[in-house]
Amino acid sequence: MRVAVISDIHANLHALEAVLAAIDADGVDALWCLGDLVGYGPRPNECVALVRERTSICLAGNHDLVVLGKIELSAFAGEAAAAAEWTRSELNPASLEFLSQLAPTARASAAELFHGSARDPIWDYVIDDKSARWTFKATSERLVLVGHSHIALEISKRKRLEGGRAPAGTEVELDETRRILNPGSVGQPRDGDPRAAWLMIDTASSRATFCRTRYPFELTQAEMRERSLPATLAERLEYGI
Ligand code: ZN
Repeated sequence: MRVAVISDIHANLHALEAVLAAIDADGVDALWCLGDLVGYGPRPNECVALVRERTSICLAGNHDLVVLGKIELSAFAGEAAAAAEWTRSELNPASLEFLSQLAPTARASAAELFHGSARDPIWDYVIDDKSARWTFKATSERLVLVGHSHIALEISKRKRLEGGRAPAGTEVELDETRRILNPGSVGQPRDGDPRAAWLMIDTASSRATFCRTRYPFELTQAEMRERSLPATLAERLEYGI
């Protein structure tokens, strides 16, 4: 079985379309999304519609929950709050209906999925040894998938924790070792590579591959400026920060 994993799309339609085209070219049996479909970006309804149509598992992220009003807007500062407020006014009933039935965790065959971490699936980041240890402790499946940090990551639990950032082309052998994998972000990468990030898991060959796909970020930037979304949110897309 081949499963593509995407996360943190953040209403960046051009990035999502490019990733879906790359995934389709590779051929997959399933597509999973780890949350944050909306927030920051300019095309929330189109992104929700595509994710609804294409994914068999989809989580809710903190941005999705804020936009739905399940978390207070005051939980966000500055630009994130401004973008969330704009997104709230923009979402159509079909998008709201889809987002409102999502949860921040899920379980699949031999994998546990969280938007954030196993300790706090909405807000917590798995970014260091401490947070990774917590998540290993709170889970039992060999494979744990997380999003939220926008940084592609692989952490293996051997005698000590090993691994770290997973740049484009990183391959991980899925043996008996327990692992936390973060595919990185489709719509707002923050690991210095502006290309859209995603992960391919192939259970037949027992391999996970970290992939990056180029997309026309200047089109997303132009759409953000047209909609008066915060300028720095648009600028960061070309640097992947
Ligand atoms: Zn996010």
